[in-house]
Amino acid sequence: MVNSFESALRGPGERASLQEWDLASLFGYRGRLPGHFLLQGAEANPLARGVAARQSRHRRGGGRLDGWSGRVPQGAAPVPGPERAISPTALETFAKCPFKYFLGHILRVGEVERPEEVVTIEPAAIGNIMHATLERFFNHTKDRPEPEADWSPAERAALRDFAFAEFADAERRGVTGKALTWQAEQARLLRDLDLLLAEELKERRQGHLRFREAEAAFGMGSGHPPAELQLANGGTLLFRGKADRIDAGVDGRLVITDYKTGRSSTYKDLKPENPLAGGQFLQLPVYALAFREDSAPPVTASYWFISESAAFERKPVVLDDRTYANLSGVVTTLVETMSNGYFPAVPGSETRPYGVPWENCRYCPYDAVCPSANRTEIWAEVKGDPGLAAFAGLADGESAAVEETDA
Ligand code: SF4
Repeated sequence: MVNSFESALRGPGERASLQEWDLASLFGYRGRLPGHFLLQGAEANPLARGVAARQSRHRRGGGRLDGWSGRVPQGAAPVPGPERAISPTALETFAKCPFKYFLGHILRVGEVERPEEVVTIEPAAIGNIMHATLERFFNHTKDRPEPEADWSPAERAALRDFAFAEFADAERRGVTGKALTWQAEQARLLRDLDLLLAEELKERRQGHLRFREAEAAFGMGSGHPPAELQLANGGTLLFRGKADRIDAGVDGRLVITDYKTGRSSTYKDLKPENPLAGGQFLQLPVYALAFREDSAPPVTASYWFISESAAFERKPVVLDDRTYANLSGVVTTLVETMSNGYFPAVPGSETRPYGVPWENCRYCPYDAVCPSANRTEIWAEVKGDPGLAAFAGLADGESAAVEETDA
């Protein structure tokens, strides 16, 4: 048997360095940790600050947020508005878990990428490959003389060539995982692309649609202007983003599409009667808003799950007056919560007996920052803060584990 590093430090043996001596001293300390001599000088002492952060985030009883657990002074955090556009996916992140938004979008805590540990290509990398392939292909075939004609062998070959170019690029970046699984994945993607051509043509013919634009950017400096939403409190919010694809119908209607390469089940909470799910699905209505002026009403935006396993399902949202009012109300609550300085950790519902049990935490890069247990109980205490009443009403209404890959 070989003792672990920790058990050796907890024992009485010799210390090999000053660091080991310090660690052994901390392990052996019997008082309250903040009283240890290594944690003195709180503000300037990184160890003391780390311990304070951990204790704050794990604290139960009292239910108060502080600077370590998601509360900043009113107006201290940058807030989107008429001068500062926000992407709908960033606001969706806030709606699901404001603390995750705080770490990623305000503190800009990055994720460490370890390509050497990738066994199977990540969903986000698959999404990038498919998006880039389709962008190149549909731009390449944009001016075909008969848009509803069968895809020719040359066009089919071009699609595969674009896909192979993207595969090679992904390999160069080292994100494709082990060779055997990557080979199987490539075969699956090629089959999905082939099937997509048939599905796409079927939709073209049904709606007499013409491909108009890929990666249509709005509010990003060039391209289309930002989407402007009137808030329920009288303010204005600007959105920026990029719609994967826009088609135009002969009746002047636009159809906006966001490709999804992940499972459609992660969008199970997106229902026609509740298309925003408390702010967790904002992408589609915002895309529709961005191109509303260019289209005969009402504008439709939809997720298109472009894989055989997802049966090429579409999930549409129609931006009618009711959805606009709903969007305005939900976004107002989110922005006011943010500007009041509330960024609590919201884990979502606890549905799994194994792995990460909380829905919102499953694909979160900050899992190690949050307590390993009691996340539900801590949120239940924190949401009693009157400043969180409106947000808690939204957050508790629905929960969804949407992978933040835009895949
Ligand atoms: S791990 Fe969960 S609770 Fe913590 S920031 Fe991520 S989503 Fe929020």
